[in-house]
Amino acid sequence: MMIPAEPIWVIIMKVAIVGAGIVGTYLAWRLAGKGADVSVFERKKEIGGKACSGLISKRLWHFFPEEKGLVENEIKSANIHFPKKDVEIRFSPHMLVIDRKGLEEYAAELARKAGAKIFLGMNVANVLHAKGKKPQIVLEKNGKKAFLEFDCIVGCDGEHSVVRKSLRLREPRMRLGILAYGKAKKNQQKDAVEVFPTKNGFGWIIPRGAGEAEYGTLEKPADAKKQFEMFCRRQKARPRKVLAAVVPEGLRIPDNSRIALCGDAAGLTKSWSGGGVVWGLTAAHMLARDFPNLAKYEKQMKRFFAPRMFFGRIETKAAAWLGLNMPALLPKKIRIDSDWGI
Ligand SMILES: Cc1cc2nc3c(=O)[nH]c(=O)nc-3n(C[C@H](O)[C@H](O)[C@H](O)COP(=O)(O)OP(=O)(O)OC[C@H]3O[C@@H](n4cnc5c(N)ncnc54)[C@H](O)[C@@H]3O)c2cc1C
Repeated sequence: MMIPAEPIWVIIMKVAIVGAGIVGTYLAWRLAGKGADVSVFERKKEIGGKACSGLISKRLWHFFPEEKGLVENEIKSANIHFPKKDVEIRFSPHMLVIDRKGLEEYAAELARKAGAKIFLGMNVANVLHAKGKKPQIVLEKNGKKAFLEFDCIVGCDGEHSVVRKSLRLREPRMRLGILAYGKAKKNQQKDAVEVFPTKNGFGWIIPRGAGEAEYGTLEKPADAKKQFEMFCRRQKARPRKVLAAVVPEGLRIPDNSRIALCGDAAGLTKSWSGGGVVWGLTAAHMLARDFPNLAKYEKQMKRFFAPRMFFGRIETKAAAWLGLNMPALLPKKIRIDSDWGI
């Protein structure tokens, strides 16, 4: 007698990712590679274009196959100019100045090749969820609404995340980043960033190679425009192509087994710089590893990031206060981990 073969149950999870930024496209690539049926919804009509310096540590290549064509410059250190003292911060590993739009296009291409579907020009207006039911995303176009059901939904929709709002989580702390491009100064060190701390933020100059530099400030939203204009005047920079975006800070983790947050939507940015790419990719890597167990991801993510955010904030406040008030107590040179701090 023939023994019937064991039935093979292939459970294909239907996943919606809201937002095709760097975190959403990376996650789509990883989840599609694991066999999930991934749909990414992006409200913009094209990939990329976020206001971002693209100063990302070499750990970027722990997440993606190395693509040298995206690198504009390599940065070894930052010179912090307090009013009465300069402090040199040495980065370990070194930072790369990356073509940010190019990086997002690269990640989107990897995701598509792995089988993820990316829908552009699709604004997710809301996420509906009820206990015991599969969640739905609400798409809105030309006044018409469509309701789509998924096994799980991941909000990678950035600072003003609608997924986070639908879960009624508290909004993170917001700072406003403004940047513009201009000519590099003649005495600009080619492999160092210049940083100018203020009471509630800082200004920066990043050499982007080929005689170009980026001038920017990160400040409380109410002061941001004034501080940026003042900074450009002081640096005698004639900025062109001014871009701005909000940087959220403060871990937001839903208690939901079918809906998760990642990247800026989860408030994952470094206190001392506002950088969020490696932090967002680290969380997305955890989610892909634990998928489809979102509750496990949420627990692991909290365990990993909560202490780093807490101590990062204390370090930043202490260093800024000492630098502005008691600079003699600060060492002249400090080596830090580019992503995790002192
Ligand atoms: C001025 C500035 C400079 C920065 N410089 C650096 C830096 O040098 N290094 C660094 O590591 N980080 C930097 N950051 C932070 C970094 O840009 C973010 O941490 C990173 O972009 C987060 O990626 P993300 O994919 O989570 O979100 P995002 O890049 O914001 O992507 C979110 C995506 O979701 C889409 N979206 C939003 N809402 C919806 C919706 N309702 N429906 C559909 N789609 C939606 C958006 O259009 C966007 O494409 C900077 C930020 C700013 C503002």
